[in-house]
Amino acid sequence: MTTTDATEATGATEAPEGADSAKAALFGALKTYEGKPAGPTFTMADPVNQPMIRHWVEAMGDENPVYADADAARAEGFGGVIAPATMLQAWVMRGYRASAEADAARAAGEAPVGEWAQDRVFVLLDEAGFTSVVATNCDQEYRRPVVLGDRLTAASVLESVSPEKATALGDGHFVTTRTDFTDEAGEPVATMRFRILRFRPKAAPAAPAAPADVAAPPRMPRPRPSITEDNSFFFEGLKQGRLLIQRCASCGVLRHPPRPACAECHSLEWDTVESSGRGTVFSFVVVHHPQIPSFDYPLPIAVVELEEGTRLVGDLVGVDPGAVSIGMAVQAELVAVDDELTLAMFRPAVPPGAGTRGGA
Ligand code: ZN
Repeated sequence: MTTTDATEATGATEAPEGADSAKAALFGALKTYEGKPAGPTFTMADPVNQPMIRHWVEAMGDENPVYADADAARAEGFGGVIAPATMLQAWVMRGYRASAEADAARAAGEAPVGEWAQDRVFVLLDEAGFTSVVATNCDQEYRRPVVLGDRLTAASVLESVSPEKATALGDGHFVTTRTDFTDEAGEPVATMRFRILRFRPKAAPAAPAAPADVAAPPRMPRPRPSITEDNSFFFEGLKQGRLLIQRCASCGVLRHPPRPACAECHSLEWDTVESSGRGTVFSFVVVHHPQIPSFDYPLPIAVVELEEGTRLVGDLVGVDPGAVSIGMAVQAELVAVDDELTLAMFRPAVPPGAGTRGGA
């Protein structure tokens, strides 16, 4: 009975009656697991090796020679071939076997939940109705590069659980797990913090009411895009009614979504071009589930190839979801979805001849 144990540990022995005291009791119980091992400590079965690195960089399309050529790596100041920083977690992932073991335990009638802090916290959150999960962010810090021959050990600690927070997805708790990677000498190599949100799923939206002059309840706002130094020009442009596409100032190649460097020539210099918004549907999906209350379903979303030569993802509006097709001509429409946010959506283009611009 993990709930009882944890509740007693906090000294909250009374059965809470009000919502606030229930929240406080749960939060107190969750906090008791902070700083405790999140799961088993795991040491890599095989040392860091060239074949795994090669598969990774080929899959990623990363041709930096420091991952494959010792001379090139030394020329960059490393002692030899290094592993890509983003492989950190891959070295200690247990993969299919861990899932198979959990499945076998479940089939044998054993509780799949162990003694680890992460398991206990998840049980508490499940019992309190926070049954949905989304990964929110992952931060890594390195003390030195991971190199060929390293045999890393990963030890995870449940670092923190947030108080209950209201989010666009629903009310929930952020759970942060810290994994410390050490080498065979026990020296620290890197630290990874992985944060998830466990939230209480919102009730499905009510069926649309018959059209009436009764004001509809205020709609849940759309999720906010993550606006950064790199992409703020794009969203500012939309607010001003301009669809701006990032262009490499050195070689002229367009790129979207915005990012700091040109993939073609590696230049950090860039400017923008204003797109006409004309394009064609390169690919699309029609989303039915899961339904988020800020959207209407079925929801067609397209990858649009702009006539300037780059692609953009956007909602399709003014179209029967069943009638969307690849190659369909579309026109961008900048829609102020609320006071703060304008997004580029796409509407089927007026067929030639049907509009005033036809034949222009
Ligand atoms: Zn370039």
